Amino acid sequence: MVQEYKLFIGGEFKDSSTGEVFEDINPATLESVAMIQVAGAEDVDRAVEAAESGFRIWSRVPAPRRAEVLFRAARILQERKEELAVLMTEEMGKILPETRGDVQEAIDITNYAAGEGRRMFGETTPSELKDKFCMTVLRPIGIVGVITPWNFPIAIPAWKIMPALIAGNAIVFKPASDTPLLALKVIEVLIEAGLPPGVINLVTGPGGTVGKAIVQHPRINAISFTGSLDTGKWIMEECSKTMKRVSLELGGKNPVIVMDDADLELALEGVLWGAFGTTGQRCTATSRLILHEKVKDEFIKRLLAKVKALRLGNGLLPETDIGPLISKAQLEKTEKYVSIGKEEGATLLTGGNRIDPGLPGYFFEPTVFTDVRPEMRIAQEEIFGPVLGILTVSDLEEAIEVANNSKYGLSSAIYTGNIGNAFKAIERIEAGITYINAPTIGAEVHLPFGGVKGTGNGFREAGTDAIREFSEVKAVYIDY
Ligand code: NAP
Repeated sequence: MVQEYKLFIGGEFKDSSTGEVFEDINPATLESVAMIQVAGAEDVDRAVEAAESGFRIWSRVPAPRRAEVLFRAARILQERKEELAVLMTEEMGKILPETRGDVQEAIDITNYAAGEGRRMFGETTPSELKDKFCMTVLRPIGIVGVITPWNFPIAIPAWKIMPALIAGNAIVFKPASDTPLLALKVIEVLIEAGLPPGVINLVTGPGGTVGKAIVQHPRINAISFTGSLDTGKWIMEECSKTMKRVSLELGGKNPVIVMDDADLELALEGVLWGAFGTTGQRCTATSRLILHEKVKDEFIKRLLAKVKALRLGNGLLPETDIGPLISKAQLEKTEKYVSIGKEEGATLLTGGNRIDPGLPGYFFEPTVFTDVRPEMRIAQEEIFGPVLGILTVSDLEEAIEVANNSKYGLSSAIYTGNIGNAFKAIERIEAGITYINAPTIGAEVHLPFGGVKGTGNGFREAGTDAIREFSEVKAVYIDY
């Protein structure tokens, strides 16, 4: 028997109004991890009401005092790091070094946001008139709806929740239905850290009902969403009806350019882990390898040797390199794109099939296609699985053109020994992030994170931008 978890509203764990539960499953073993209560629209109403009373208290706590709660939360996360990492591997499958990294990112952003509690600066500006004083102050937005995906079950919620809290907001949080347990752990940490009742509220259940109720709720002031492009578009449209602020972090089709002057061994490692780390289920995953024709044959030969050596299995075991996909739906989607790639005329070099590493879960072979052309669906659409497409180019000009031939613009990378090539890539690749001689994956909490084009709507997470995202700038005019 696994434990059943309730909603968290107004500082207490409460039964949902629907009486329904859903099963949280380990995607490697297909064993049950937890039973989770399904919230209804009525519970979202209760969560908003609780958030309103939480907001009245929390918004008046001075930011440096709010920071004390966050610093305590960071310490608790640190103490519980290994336990949470193991639980995350069990809940969503990625390997232990990656789940430790996920928790570490949450620790880092929590400390970072807490530090910013002493730097919530406004500005003063000289008035045009005499005996007048002009300044700005940062005010919280109010109630923020936080809706997150499953691939970074602690880091992504923390990237939103911690800056929103330090800025003085209250939160209604709906995590992905594939990783609700880790979301409950974030709540436990914040309770232990001393966050007052009502400041954070958790409602679990399907995006189509619970998420929708949050997005459409008239008394929620802002939505912070990370997920797919289609859901993001719908959310943006809905938010326009109630004039909510909305920040969207959506998909990617991230290119890595490998030039003929690159350190090939460095590039090989970057491409390998960029494409197949977290089983390709990162928004920043490398999905397009744009290879200079002069190094094509050698690079592919060496890459295939590394790809074929990757070991799939239970992410808790030290010998495992790659875990399962998150769900049957994601497995079937990956399979579908392999068929599409073949039909489009790309050449399958390795992989392409489900695999049984001695476990019943959703395992799929790391897959590489070559002879991919920019207009093919496997070069345009986000697969979110372990599938890499190789496109060949003859110079940097063409490489950048191919890289920019995408509706997305999240991460990008170039491997080159020529500083001029690196600067051209920085200047001209249409993406929120460009890595030089490093893979497309990874993020540092002091650097703004986000994308252009179909990846988002201009907001940035992490860095000081994140604090602004959750604040209103108020202008103050004093006539003395
Ligand atoms: P998704 O289907 O859009 O779901 C994301 C979240 O939205 C989940 O909590 C989901 O709930 C909820 N949701 C679904 N429909 C909703 C609706 N109508 N209203 C409100 N909420 C709704 O995305 P996913 O497949 O879980 O996540 C993978 C996607 O996220 C990929 O496209 C990936 O690139 C993107 N991603 C982007 C970033 C970034 O920073 N740019 C980072 C990570 C992932 P349920 O789980 O209950 O369906």
